[in-house]
Amino acid sequence: SVNSSGNMSVRPYGAATLPHQEIDLLKVVRKASDPKSSGGLGLQLPLIVRLPDVLKNRLESLQSAFDFAIQSQGYESHYQGVYPVKCNQDRFVVEDIVKFGSPFRFGLEAGSKPELLLAMSCLCKGNHEALLVCNGFKDTEYIFLALVARKLALNTVIVLEQEEEIDLVIDLSKKLSIRPVVGVRAKLRTKHSGHFGSTSGEKGKFGLTTTQILRVVRKLEQAGMLDCLQLLHFHIGSQIPTTALLADGVSEAAQVFCELVRLGAHMKVLDIGGGLGIDYDGSKSSDSEISVSYGLEEYASAVVRAIRSVCDRKCVKHPVICSESGRAIVSHHSVLIFEAMSASSYDTPNMSAVGLQYFVENLSEEARADYRNLSAAASCGESHTCLVYADQLKQRCIDQFKDGSLSMEQLAAVDGFCELVSKVLGCSSDPIRTYHVNLSVFTSIPDFWGIGQLFPIVPIHRLDQRPAVRGILSDLTCDSDGKVDKFIGGETSLHLHDLHGNGGGGPYYLGMFLGGAYEEALGGVHNLFGGPSVVRVSQSDGPHSFAVTRAMPGPSCADVLRVMQHEPELMFETLKHRAEEYGQEDDGMANAALASSLASFFHNMPYLTAPSSCCLTAIN
Ligand code: PLP
Repeated sequence: SVNSSGNMSVRPYGAATLPHQEIDLLKVVRKASDPKSSGGLGLQLPLIVRLPDVLKNRLESLQSAFDFAIQSQGYESHYQGVYPVKCNQDRFVVEDIVKFGSPFRFGLEAGSKPELLLAMSCLCKGNHEALLVCNGFKDTEYIFLALVARKLALNTVIVLEQEEEIDLVIDLSKKLSIRPVVGVRAKLRTKHSGHFGSTSGEKGKFGLTTTQILRVVRKLEQAGMLDCLQLLHFHIGSQIPTTALLADGVSEAAQVFCELVRLGAHMKVLDIGGGLGIDYDGSKSSDSEISVSYGLEEYASAVVRAIRSVCDRKCVKHPVICSESGRAIVSHHSVLIFEAMSASSYDTPNMSAVGLQYFVENLSEEARADYRNLSAAASCGESHTCLVYADQLKQRCIDQFKDGSLSMEQLAAVDGFCELVSKVLGCSSDPIRTYHVNLSVFTSIPDFWGIGQLFPIVPIHRLDQRPAVRGILSDLTCDSDGKVDKFIGGETSLHLHDLHGNGGGGPYYLGMFLGGAYEEALGGVHNLFGGPSVVRVSQSDGPHSFAVTRAMPGPSCADVLRVMQHEPELMFETLKHRAEEYGQEDDGMANAALASSLASFFHNMPYLTAPSSCCLTAIN
């Protein structure tokens, strides 16, 4: 919400948040970015502000939505979710989820060996009944590790993603004498229509077909291990648009579950995957690619009803319901804050009579005719004709410039003149400005660039002032795709404040919201911009309503160079030798000072620093 100072503030407990518990984002940014000498943490922007209280609230809300649906529908088992770590593998996010979810046995899902390792070590500190779901393509090592996890008394389930994995599981578990718990991922016929559903349905990339599941059952039976098959999993894609589609998929999976019971498997858990959507654009409409028409309660209710109805008809014991919601758990917990460093401006031309005379004199015969026609049309008030002649005039002048008969000053005068004409005629709306922001779209909003995903972007302060400018955002990368020019609601520009106008003058901060899932994990190092700085901010009852409980600067230039196999230490040595060779010749800077300023570049973050940056002072 917006507080009485006009700043964006976070209310970790929604409507239940008391005014003194609100976290003012501008105060957080100041605390994080002010130099250490003035009580700040001296971190550079962009900045990710993590809000563990929001994470806790999301987890508890999901759990209570299922608890309520289970209780009100007389469902005879419980809900026990897992968090798919791929949505955000940050250590503190995963540790928080394990800690906050421990009272209700919340577990983790992994899709690769490193993810499994991190999930194993985090779950050691959680509830021992929490599920550890092993998804993804598996080789021998992955299955070995998952069996070791079971040996360590973690509630591990190996979910078969390909048919061949069953041979490895049977073979290895016999060799290691570890009884596995096995699940299968079913390739459902239900097809999710949205962007994220392209891999669902019969032709989808993931899971086992009906025939393959039957073969797995037979193999387990022959190996005397059919009791190990206990979980059925499916995932029809992220952002499931409606509860009708959800119920359709869940019912189909529940039928498969009941069939597996009939075939003799000891089925216990129905894992409905991810797909619980969130409302990025506030429309609460399934017509929007970035919204869904349900909330947590409707989602849970539809799942419980669908499973119960199928199992009751088949007289099958109600399974434990597991979901792998990622987006819905972590999206809200962080805010990316960045600064608009400058904005393009459009000067309204101020042409004197002398300037006009000079400009007309140098025009070609045809261009002069256009100018005369334009003047005649203007005196008769024929706006449309004026604009036609203005366009024609401009194009002729561009051609003249190209063949060298018009100077740069004259071309600028033509541009100004034509703009003046359209302004006088009331045909030009206020131009859209480009705000240059201290950010890399490829690092911090990769889904915008990759799949056109939109996120809410809003200034985090001056919200008590009318934003008088329309702008798009252009990032620091040398890439034409490095811009944000599409916004929630189909807008092609944002309402922004003038950087220098009324109330401006200081730094201007913008926040990107709902980017806590996927963005950090997918972000790349295009142009070698590394990740943002991160602060973890908890609600506090102390005098400041919040406490920064962790602060982490973003990677340095040396760190990002290492990602691409460069060796900053060797690079520095080479440059230092060069400084020794050439530094002496320049009496303005001794070679030692040159070397030390070079060293400081390696330790700096690759983002733009404020004008008084430490590398520049080192050189000076
Ligand atoms: N589980 C599996 C197997 C997935 O592939 C995904 C992501 O697509 C998820 C869970 C998380 O989905 P979501 O973020 O929509 O909850």
